[in-house]
Amino acid sequence: MEHNPEQIILGEVTVTRVTEFYGTVELTPGEFFPDSPAGSWDEHRDWLAPDFWNPETNECHSAIQSWLLRSEGRTILVDTGVGNHKDRPYARVWNRRDTDYLDNLAAAGVRPEDVDLVVNTHLHVDHVGWNTRLDGRVWVPTFPNATYLMTRQDFEFWDPANEHRSVLGRGNQNVFEDSVTPVHRAGLTRLWEESFRIDRNLRLDLAPGHTPGSSVLALESGGDRALFVGDLVHTPLQITEPGTNSCFCEDPAESRATRHRLLGHAAEDNALVFPAHFGGRGAAEVERTGSRFAIKEWAAFSRLS
Ligand SMILES: [Zn+2]
Repeated sequence: MEHNPEQIILGEVTVTRVTEFYGTVELTPGEFFPDSPAGSWDEHRDWLAPDFWNPETNECHSAIQSWLLRSEGRTILVDTGVGNHKDRPYARVWNRRDTDYLDNLAAAGVRPEDVDLVVNTHLHVDHVGWNTRLDGRVWVPTFPNATYLMTRQDFEFWDPANEHRSVLGRGNQNVFEDSVTPVHRAGLTRLWEESFRIDRNLRLDLAPGHTPGSSVLALESGGDRALFVGDLVHTPLQITEPGTNSCFCEDPAESRATRHRLLGHAAEDNALVFPAHFGGRGAAEVERTGSRFAIKEWAAFSRLS
């Protein structure tokens, strides 16, 4: 079989990378990761640049992408990016976008009606966008036959009716209304707590910190393991410096603790780690180095450029 550089097979599960965006997120390392240790970016410059950081402009580079899984005959989409035409007045880089994401999904052999499950690892602006699309003036489910899996904790935290305060301030404005409520009203959501078994190969677990209801998807099939970690890490610097949070982490202490715990599990289990936003080769095996971690080997995806 010909090798597809956007696809990896783990046990009985096929994992395909579907990209929406790759480039600068218009944040310096100091803005995006305010508690990253002084000098740490320069120390790792030889491999952080250019895939994750442009030292000339001093801006972080990120991918917005979905991990497309085929498991036990079902098509599963992990995180749904920013979406098109969404009004994001406080998130300029995500405002009223018009990308070819659905074409990229089609290139992976998937039409919207083929998607059986959507996993939103958490309910931030860049993880729920393609949950819906604009039909005239109305937001409708993009994936009409899918069940959308989200945690009850995040659903309640981000529901504006509950008036919770977030570190994002108004940064998640409109998101619940245009990307969560329409699928919920259509009866397509399945709110889960603590843990949710998808099938023999896949299980969702709560991983709070980045948001109260952040979650990870664990894959175990044949001898292979993987962990789809959402925003547990945004940049590989958070693997070498696992105490480093992003400015978008709701609970800094819990976020650090969850990151240490899950990277530890991934290192012990030789699990391939799939963050939501890594450019470059997208995913990696990690190894423990004292109280930190290191990249052991990058995945075989082609490099985003
Ligand atoms: Zn994100």
